[in-house]
Amino acid sequence: MWLAIVVWVVLSALVSWLAHRQGRNPGYWLAISLVLTPLLGGVLLMMARPPAPQGDTNYTITHDMEMTHAKCPHCAEYVRPELTRCPYCQGKLEPNTALIAERQAEKLAEEQGLAAQLRLNRLISVGVVVGIAVLIGVLLTLR
Ligand SMILES: [Zn+2]
Repeated sequence: MWLAIVVWVVLSALVSWLAHRQGRNPGYWLAISLVLTPLLGGVLLMMARPPAPQGDTNYTITHDMEMTHAKCPHCAEYVRPELTRCPYCQGKLEPNTALIAERQAEKLAEEQGLAAQLRLNRLISVGVVVGIAVLIGVLLTLR
């Protein structure tokens, strides 16, 4: 009986650690695993959508504007690089094709990186769930 409780808590802590690794609230996932069994916690964690990236939103926006937008030569406002007319001062703009291509390449690279990270997280989660199932099976056999 004590062994089952110890394994339960250890597996819940494992699910919590996995959640923390994915940028989620570990306390929340620890509670889920303790109440609903670590197996269900692991399955839920595997099915949950990836969390939004954290960080200073203002910094990210400014950073994105500089990286992805062209500066209007007439009024110095940031505008989308594909525009031919500034929406702020109506001045004529040259579409910045280099910036457009760069932005598309960056977006593609980012999507591929996220997909790879998601695949890795899924793989780890599947491994943990299979491990938990095996451990529970072993525990039931030992009893
Ligand atoms: Zn302008």
